[in-house]
Amino acid sequence: MTGWEHILYETPAVGVVRIVLNRVATRNAQDTQLLYELNEAFDLAAHDDAVHVIILASAGPHFSSGHDLRETDHLGHKQAHGTVGTWGGFGSPGAEATMAREKEMYLGFSERWRNIPKPTIAQVQGKCISGGLMLVWPCDLIVAADDAMFQDNTLDLGMPGVEYFAHPWELGVRQAKEYLFTADWLTAQEAHRLGMVNRVVPRERLGEATLELAVRIAKKPAFALKLAKEAINGAQDAQGRVSAFNLAFALHQLGHSHNQQVHGMAIDPAGIAPAIKRNTGE
Ligand code: ZN
Repeated sequence: MTGWEHILYETPAVGVVRIVLNRVATRNAQDTQLLYELNEAFDLAAHDDAVHVIILASAGPHFSSGHDLRETDHLGHKQAHGTVGTWGGFGSPGAEATMAREKEMYLGFSERWRNIPKPTIAQVQGKCISGGLMLVWPCDLIVAADDAMFQDNTLDLGMPGVEYFAHPWELGVRQAKEYLFTADWLTAQEAHRLGMVNRVVPRERLGEATLELAVRIAKKPAFALKLAKEAINGAQDAQGRVSAFNLAFALHQLGHSHNQQVHGMAIDPAGIAPAIKRNTGE
């Protein structure tokens, strides 16, 4: 019906939709196609009044290895197009195309999903790296398996953090600095202690525990849930979140431009091999 290749759309219980990243061979790396399909799936669930709660899950041992750096289009900007906003210039030379693509596909999509007016729950197992954070952080709740590990490794690539710069709110300012500066792994248990994760459950119970939580919430009054979400998101935005995100996004674009001038590509290639080696444990 939907024609999606990388996304499954399931209805595991009344009022609950489970959207599943299904690009297991690449550890659910996010290429252009996957992100546009995911946005369509979120739209479908958001606009269906029978859906009260949305679960975002992924197939395979790992939640997501981040943006697909092997995508040949990654720097070609051919497939990105304006769905989120009115920004154009996807085929323009220089920094304009990079900014347009990331404003649409990274910051734009994540911000859009964060503002879906119904509860969303991320269900996370295994590794969740950089771009993976931009899928789970926009969700309202995060349920993690006890083997889940989180990492923003962009500093090793000459970048100041992922495009959706929620680190200070997710981890607190001091811990956010440490995890960005070191690019270290954050375990599920530590993420729970810091308040980034709601619950840590045994790996084998992850799907069941997330669904139980979703079903409980789906039985609550839908409009009240919407209002509660708007109120809490509004409190966060009153702290200057949107302005801070926009500043971080501009600095991120400066990082890409700097790397392009110095290294001839948008990220520092010296960081790619060590990051892959560390992330694969090879
Ligand atoms: Zn970027």
